Amino acid sequence: MNKEVIKIQTLNENKRMSTQELLQLITLKISEGYTDFEIAGCGQHNIGGSSWAICDGDELKFKITNPGQRVGAMALKGTHIYVEGSAPADVGWLNSGAEIIVDGDCGDTASHCAAGGKIFVSGRVGTRSGALMKHDPKFEPPEFWVLKNTGSFGFEFMGGGIAVICGWDCEGLESVLGNRSCVGMVGGTIYVRGKISGIADCVAIKELNDNDIDFLKNGLDEFLKKINKTDLYNELTDFTQWHKIEPLPPELKKKKIPVSEFRKTSWVEGGIFGDFIHDDFVVYPLPAVGDGRVHIPVWDSSPCIDCKICLNNCPNSAIKENNKQYSSDENLCIGCGICEAVCPKQAWKLISNRNEIS
Ligand code: SF4
Ligand code: SF4
Repeated sequence: MNKEVIKIQTLNENKRMSTQELLQLITLKISEGYTDFEIAGCGQHNIGGSSWAICDGDELKFKITNPGQRVGAMALKGTHIYVEGSAPADVGWLNSGAEIIVDGDCGDTASHCAAGGKIFVSGRVGTRSGALMKHDPKFEPPEFWVLKNTGSFGFEFMGGGIAVICGWDCEGLESVLGNRSCVGMVGGTIYVRGKISGIADCVAIKELNDNDIDFLKNGLDEFLKKINKTDLYNELTDFTQWHKIEPLPPELKKKKIPVSEFRKTSWVEGGIFGDFIHDDFVVYPLPAVGDGRVHIPVWDSSPCIDCKICLNNCPNSAIKENNKQYSSDENLCIGCGICEAVCPKQAWKLISNRNEIS
């Protein structure tokens, strides 16, 4: 192992190193035995990701400024990443064991899909952060610590792991979890300090028990040391301010309703794109035929050379040929577009079956 710190400046005289060049350079240096990197980034993606897989079991360290998206994505145990300043979207996406510290704010989807390791953030995190976090019981659960608050739609479909949202410096906010967080949450625990509103009805807000308080006391000690904010320990360990959020057991969850009823009663009025497309609230079978198709194929006789490629490749045997004239049967056609893709003469053209967007 070579203890020298590799310093990489990725912007020289207005020439920017690409993501590929940077990751290849890191890979080369790791193969030469270097494990300690200081990277002055310029928006390059995936820094510090799965690099540990190619090192010889040593600990890998990255100190990064100005990273691009997915810093620490899929990073493995034995990887330590410190971001000086803020980082954009997808910090620690599918983190698989690394320690990632962001000394600033994170963009959207921080800790998205995290399955292991710990992510510490000294500021705020954007929308959909913590979504799809998960826990394989063979490993320690992933942890996601945030000093301030999250954007809306956080922890969607969370299946496991632990998130701690400290709500510090959030006195003016209506909810430190934004709006509509925890939709579809089925596992894991979110500890949260401060005001919460607008969260999904599939979760319960609970008081802390002694085990929760022990976990938070120890964890906050570690977290605040990592982000150099130990002076906040007393303020954040007033546990009268904290709650935990966990999914309701299945028997207490609201009964499922058919999609068509959901669209009538719960969908955004007029549909998400209601300004542009009329929503008839009809749920078509999948895959749809006839009027339910999003696209329909139209045949043009002039370029056709009667090769029969379309006839032989239509997955639903919808194409008919009669005296070198081709057509598709609307009761069989699913609008998949294979005829258009395979025709060597562009005789089939797929067009929209929605007047509003044609
Ligand atoms: S769109 Fe698909 S289903 Fe319809 S005719 Fe073409 S290949 Fe067949
Ligand atoms: S693949 Fe094209 S050229 Fe060949 S038969 Fe079908 S429409 Fe005609």
